[in-house]
Amino acid sequence: MSIRLFNTLSREIEEFKPSGGNSVNLYTCGPTVYDTAHIGNLRSYIFADVLRRALQYNGYKVRWVMNITDVDDKTIKRSVEQYGSKATPKELREYTDKYFEEFKKDLEAVNIPTDSENITFIRVSDKIEEIKDFIKKLIKLGYAYKTGDGVYFSIETYQKKFGDYGGLVGPDFLEGKEVGARVKVDEYKKEDLSDFALWKKQDESDGNIFWEDEELGNGRPGWHIECSVINKVAFGGAPTDIHTGGVDLIFPHHTNEIAQSQPIYKPFVNHWSHNEHLLVDGKKMAKSEGNFYTLKDLEKEMPDAGMAFRYLTLLTNYRKQMNFTMTALKAAKSGLESLSNYRFNEPFQYVSDTNYEDAFREDLNDNLNTAGSLGVFYMLVGYKGVEPLADKMADTLGIKFLTPEKEAEIPPNVKELADEREKYRGSKQFVKADELRKEIDALGFIVEDTVKVESVVKIEESPEGPIIKPKK
Ligand SMILES: [Zn+2]
Repeated sequence: MSIRLFNTLSREIEEFKPSGGNSVNLYTCGPTVYDTAHIGNLRSYIFADVLRRALQYNGYKVRWVMNITDVDDKTIKRSVEQYGSKATPKELREYTDKYFEEFKKDLEAVNIPTDSENITFIRVSDKIEEIKDFIKKLIKLGYAYKTGDGVYFSIETYQKKFGDYGGLVGPDFLEGKEVGARVKVDEYKKEDLSDFALWKKQDESDGNIFWEDEELGNGRPGWHIECSVINKVAFGGAPTDIHTGGVDLIFPHHTNEIAQSQPIYKPFVNHWSHNEHLLVDGKKMAKSEGNFYTLKDLEKEMPDAGMAFRYLTLLTNYRKQMNFTMTALKAAKSGLESLSNYRFNEPFQYVSDTNYEDAFREDLNDNLNTAGSLGVFYMLVGYKGVEPLADKMADTLGIKFLTPEKEAEIPPNVKELADEREKYRGSKQFVKADELRKEIDALGFIVEDTVKVESVVKIEESPEGPIIKPKK
């Protein structure tokens, strides 16, 4: 049985076949490291990670590459704001290092491993020479032209040769649109269809952030060209089997990636996979709306927020909009806790003859129906004798069980003090009892008196006595 995936380019669910036998080249557009990633970004990376794990579950060897955009309009603007107009590529690197490190921590928190065994990160600032060469080739082939402020890609020339510009958006994308205008900024809308910048000559707003080049002029690459070049560099010119990203990247970013790449190497990408947006409280996330969350914000609400968030994203298919609410996150956390309890507490006797593994695979391979797979996993996880299978399913979905809180060991001297304190409390000698509480505190433990709730009006001390635990 093989995996079936929706391909944005053909607009159909296709049976996935890699170009190179058993190995899959997987590419994901990574973050622009100018600020902390938000949970909408994280949904996109969790989707790509589930895809990676699903491919591995099907026996493929996956090489997963993600670019890190540390050179673009936003990172340069922020670096100049922080370091002033004297900022050079060195300061840009320093500024973006911080957010790259933060990003890796966020990934780890949602159980996306960041070690080189599982993923290769490629920073744009490490590939400037390769990008320059690529642009020069496009100029030589006639697809790019120089202007006073940089180098632009000619959609008209491309269209004459390939005739498929905008095909990723839809077959009639160019209908009624005029080509020939130019746009310098990295991000723009479909209505502003234009020749886009491959290389931008340095101007005042860039400070001293530029790379020297005689032919192109001192400057830096545009955003879209970075990914074309990094795909090529990462896979040695072999096609990218699957390219992922959020739907907001279909235009202009991925549309332009295709146009830049095809004159130099074709096929560029065999399969495009895009995940839908994440909404918060039913609305598009925006700082101005007050519904903008980073993982750190969720971590303030609860421990293990990253795992709870991952669990929550699995409940919605990646091609559907997902509505995030804090209540949904809390429910997801409870779901994860139940799963963990089933796994670690006394398991049920295994009696069912359902083939859980087939059912799990069937859902997973059906365009990543993670909610279905999770349901099968949920049914199986408590049974006795299927622990290895349960662990394999957990790993395929990237679920880490929460470890049940262990009861702390209380040293005898602390226990003695606590018992003594109880006696004083029993005889209502509260000053003495309080002195002993302070002694216990100095030893690094706290005593919490428990209560028994009989009814709304009757609350009394629990017969089980107080709880003693180490201070955090
Ligand atoms: Zn990209």
